[in-house]
Formats: sequence, structure tokens, C-alpha cells
Amino acid sequence: MGGHSFCGLKYSSLLHGHHDTWKQKLWILPTTSNNCNRNYRFGAQYCCQAPHLEFSKPSVKAQMSTFENLTEEVNPVEVVWPSPDDEIPFWKQDFSSKLRNFNRAYAKVSQQPVGQDSEKLHVVHVTAEMAPLAKVGGLADVVTGLARACLNMGHKVEVMLPFYECLPRDQITELTTAEEFSSFHTGDWSVVKLYRGKVSGIPVLLIEPSNHFFKGSRIYGGSYNELEAYLFFSRACLEWMQVTGTQPDILHVHEWQTSGLPLLYWDMYHHLSLKKPRIVLTIHNMEHYGECRVEQLSMCGLDGPAYGTIEKAIDDRTIGHNPERLSLLKGGIVYSNAVTFSGILNGIDTILWDPSRDPYLPARYDALQVEGKQICKQYVQRGLGMEVSDPQLGLNSHSKPIVVCITRLVAQKGIHLIRFAIDRLNQLGGQFILLGTAPDWRIQGEFENLVHQHKRGNSVRLLLTYSEELAHMLYAAADFVLVPSMFEPCGLTQMIGMRYGAIPVVRKTGGLADTVYDMDDPSNTHKANGFLFEGIDEGSLNGALERAFKYYLENPNGWTSLISRVMSLDNSWERSARDYVSLYKSVQVRW
Ligand code: ADP
Repeated sequence: MGGHSFCGLKYSSLLHGHHDTWKQKLWILPTTSNNCNRNYRFGAQYCCQAPHLEFSKPSVKAQMSTFENLTEEVNPVEVVWPSPDDEIPFWKQDFSSKLRNFNRAYAKVSQQPVGQDSEKLHVVHVTAEMAPLAKVGGLADVVTGLARACLNMGHKVEVMLPFYECLPRDQITELTTAEEFSSFHTGDWSVVKLYRGKVSGIPVLLIEPSNHFFKGSRIYGGSYNELEAYLFFSRACLEWMQVTGTQPDILHVHEWQTSGLPLLYWDMYHHLSLKKPRIVLTIHNMEHYGECRVEQLSMCGLDGPAYGTIEKAIDDRTIGHNPERLSLLKGGIVYSNAVTFSGILNGIDTILWDPSRDPYLPARYDALQVEGKQICKQYVQRGLGMEVSDPQLGLNSHSKPIVVCITRLVAQKGIHLIRFAIDRLNQLGGQFILLGTAPDWRIQGEFENLVHQHKRGNSVRLLLTYSEELAHMLYAAADFVLVPSMFEPCGLTQMIGMRYGAIPVVRKTGGLADTVYDMDDPSNTHKANGFLFEGIDEGSLNGALERAFKYYLENPNGWTSLISRVMSLDNSWERSARDYVSLYKSVQVRW
């Protein structure tokens, strides 16, 4: 067995049988849904299980009522209506005191587990995102939702993430002074600070390098090499565990960003003093795989060239190219003890997404009392300068339905269908609000042109920005949430939409097909909660939109009961978290 040296120490680079080939490690649950059509290709095809639609379970309700007792009633007595002429747009107002109150309540809820698992695990998530502190997309929601659900089961859970310079410190409670240690990068050891705190009640460990990594005003796209920064972060997390003697049962890594950690663990730290942890990798988005040059991998202290083999981390598609490249994600799959796709088991965090407690809403509501939703609708209409629904009318009574779409503007999300929906919804007499950003400047430019075309009208608003606050308000204002994805491992916006009483209109694919049942499907009447279309063409979407509008306009009496029912569906993490805990226990090493 050939060893190789790095940082002056000698470690074996072979796998030592700690992990089998990645194909054997995928966690595949029995499929219980006929709609399971999300087959992933990564050397093989798999069919994955999705969350099921069930009505709230007592434990979820118990948690909610605990929360209720802890939070002061902050419903505004009088709504101050916004206007598009306001100096500060309504979603940029200062929410800090409401958030502080809310965070205090979160913290207390998390100290009161709702269901105790007798065998306690220590789980550390190592991740690039966590909601709401460091959120760019669904990854952040997944980490927070899963972490909270496991905490609620009585496990010890911590989340390690980079202390990005742009993080809003006021969202971190109990932030404590840093512990200092050193970590390795390109031949040098540099000082790293670790801060502890809580984010919405979940313990976080924030890693702050003293070099230029993670500086700047954004989470991604700073003026440093991201791949090198996340390799540094991955090693710093292990280094901290090594120097402090912290040995969690499970290190749960996510996406390519922390896929280098399993390599560092098995080929380096496991030969030092970290013996106990086992590694679970969750892949949320296969589009990004962490393309890595051999010398970049060497920067974190690993022997880069040793990973350029088919069994380890070479990206097969680059074989014969000059230079051949590695895929961190593939390396992570090979070196982890278990791999999951987030589409298998997702849910939403029912604390962060709760229209009855949401600090961003002008009026709160729940499944039993939905009137506040009408205020939220008007609030958004007024604030964006759109035609305002008659306050005397009920939730749908011939007011204009609002369709919202909250998404990254990338091909996966069905950009061509979003473009089509803008005009079609206008023609159908509805209103459309898009909240999205495009990483590709050409797509961003194209949508900016559309913004100009529609800014004078009063039924379409295209908001090309990222705003967590506005997202909450839009879900609350929406009658429908549109998700026309080409593929969607799980998808959160349809589930969040439902929790806020917005009926989903979605393409029948992946997790969307597993969570939305068509209102016009006679075989699913008891589960019906939205409108589905199958094709990727405009005609297919148009059919679903027309059916949705027809239902809205022709069922004034049924509408309120439909949204109450959809709001009561249980898409929480509770069930999925139990599956994750079983997975953790299946790879855990008992001492
Ligand atoms: P993704 O593939 O982007 O992870 P998901 O549906 O799984 O898609 O999760 C998207 C998450 O990101 C949701 O919480 C959604 O509300 C949020 N989101 C997407 N775009 C924006 C935006 N422009 N502003 C605020 N939140 C957004």
C-alpha cells in the first residue's frame, strides 16, 4: 500500500476499505408513489422517494402551540399601506426588531424537543448555505429544516459554515468570541477563527479565515477562487475537530463545495485522531460538480495527482484532455459512507415558513382564519403599483388572481415557459409577479428588457433581485405559485406556496409530481391540491393556467376551503428527518 506525504506527514492514500464503491452507497428508499419519475443518471438510474402529503401530525401541532405561547402577538392593529413611490420599498423596511423577537422565540422552541429519540447522535452539517442567515437557494432551506427536525428529535446538531463577510450578524444570537487555530493552504498554516452562535435556534459554528476567502458583499461570486476557498473551509472544519478533539457521529456534507471533506477525512484526519465520524453526502443539484485541477486539490494538502484515477475523483469526461480534471462531487461520492439526493427526502422548515408567525407579513393568517391573506395580497398590489383587489370582496370573488414565480432564472426552471406566462396571464386577466435572478448576464439582460415593457401596466411585475423578505410577502399574496421546471429533484417553492395558501401550478416532474395532485384528476380527488401539466411546450402550460383560472373564477365558495386544506398539508421535515436519522444510524460507528 503506497503512502504519500503532505505537510511533512505521511499518510496512506488508499481507501482502506472504509468505504465501498459509491454505487453501493446510495440510499435508496422504496418508492411508494406512482409519480416517482425523477430518475437520476450518474452512472446508474435511481428512483427516489418523496415526501407525502399528510395532514398535520400532533407533534407538529404541539410544537406550533409551544411556539404560540412564546411569541407575543404582533399582528399590526392597522396596516400602513405601501406605495411604489415610497422612498424605501416596502420589502426593504427595517424588520430587525420583529426578527429579534422572533429569533428569541425560535431559540426557546429549539430547546423544547417535541419527540425524543432514545439513541442520541451528534451530527455536524458542513455546508456553504444555511437559511435564513446564508441563503442563496434550496440548499439553505434543506440544511435548516433537517437540522431543526433532528434537534427536535433530541439529537445534538451543529451547522458549520463559512463566516462570509456579508452575513447579517444581527441574525446570529448568542454569538461568542472566537476560538483560534491554524489551518493549511498552499504550503502555509494560517490563522482561522471559529465563532459560535445560534441561527433561528440552531447552533452554528462559523469559520473565519484570516486570508481573503469569503470576503465581499455576496455569498457566491466573490473575487477569490471559490473552489480553493471551499477546500480550505473543508480542511479548516476537520482541523478544528482534530485540535479540539471533537468527534461527531456524523459529518453531513452538502454539494460540491464540501465534497472535498470526505477525501481529507479518510486520507488524512482519520489517520490522525478523528476515528469516530462517518460521512453522509447530500447532493441537491447535480449541475455543479466542483471542477478541480489536480494542483488545486494539492493546495489543501492532499496529494492531488493521486486522485486522478477513475476509482477516485477524475471527471471521466476529461480523460485524454490536457489537463485532465477532477470532480470534487465524484470524489465526495466515492469517499462518503452514504450519499443521498436531496430530492429523496425533503420538506420545508415550518418555523421559518409560517404565515401565522411570519415577521415579514403585514397581516398573519392560518388555515382556520385565512382573511389576513387578502390583506397581504392588497399590500403587495399597492406596494408594487398594481391594480388592487376590492377589499370588500372575499379571497377570490372575482378579484384578479395573482400568480407568483420565485426562482433562479436558469434553463432548469423553465425560463421559456416563464416568459410565456408573463403575457398569457395578462391576457387571461390575472396578475403575475416574478421574483428571480439570472446568473447568466444574457438571461438577466433579456428579462431586464421585459421589465421595461411591463413597467407601465398594472398587472405584471418582474423583480430581478434576491429578497428573502419579499419572497415571504409574495407567497402570502399569491393565489397561485407557478413552478414550470424542466426537471426538479424536489422543489421547495410549491411546498412553501401551499403553506401560504397559494395553489401550485407545476410541471409534472420529479418532486413537483410527488407533491402536487391535479384538481381535475378523478383518481386523486381526496388529495387534489393544484394544477399539473406534462409537456414542455407553451400549450401544455396554457392548458393548466386556463384550468386554474376557471376554477378560481367559478368556485368562489370552494376557494377558501381549498386554500385552508392546502395550508393544512404536512410537508414538514418531521418524516423525512426520521429517514435521515435511520441513515445516520446505519453508517454510525458505535464505540
Ligand atoms: P433551487 O433549485 O433554487 O434550490 P428550490 O425550489 O429547491 O430551488 O428552492 C428555492 C428557494 O430559494 C426557495 O426558498 C425560494 O423561495 C428561494 N428563492 C429563489 N429565488 C429567490 C429570490 N430571487 N429571492 C428570494 N428567494 C428566492
